[in-house]
Amino acid sequence: MEFSSKLLEKAVNEMAQLPGIGKRTALRLVLHLLKQPVEQTQFLSQALTSMREEIKFCKNCHNISDVEVCEICNNPSRNHKIICVVEDVRDVMAIENTNQFKGIYHVLGGKISPIDGVGPSQLNIKSLVDKVALGQTEELIFALSSTMEGDTTNFYIFKQIKDFDIKTSTIARGIAIGDELEYADEVTLGRSILNRVPFENSLKNL
Ligand SMILES: [Zn+2]
Repeated sequence: MEFSSKLLEKAVNEMAQLPGIGKRTALRLVLHLLKQPVEQTQFLSQALTSMREEIKFCKNCHNISDVEVCEICNNPSRNHKIICVVEDVRDVMAIENTNQFKGIYHVLGGKISPIDGVGPSQLNIKSLVDKVALGQTEELIFALSSTMEGDTTNFYIFKQIKDFDIKTSTIARGIAIGDELEYADEVTLGRSILNRVPFENSLKNL
């Protein structure tokens, strides 16, 4: 792609670093911004910079938050004895949208995936095991995607906590939960949380 301006080229190249944005799309977006008032670009860049510099991860559940402890963990009307284990913040948002879950979350920050070089130590697993070890938790709900990586991660955590007196369950399988939990529709996802099954049952299918 030949550019008539180095500034334009730089902006397009930066934009094209984003997933799913090729050079052509990047060029279209940059040219769009050029046609808008300059404030729009300033608001966009300011929002991105503040988000990147100021955002926090809840010290209890690792959910993205503006404060040290997220709103969910800080809410006394939530059941802090039931922890739903999810891969990332999108899953928290998807499950919150169902309005069917009143416990709290634990965001792992990914799944165990040896192919991608992601091992247990790179995920928020130790803090989960430490939390369970405190003895305040009654149930862990595994709500990871039903992929091999999801299963591996569930099983790894299960092995770490199975000696504690705690119930483990998994959201119902065989429904419209594909690779990405966030794409399951709200009714289906809500139902699968209500109809969760003991985790041991899911092992028989392995
Ligand atoms: Zn939290």
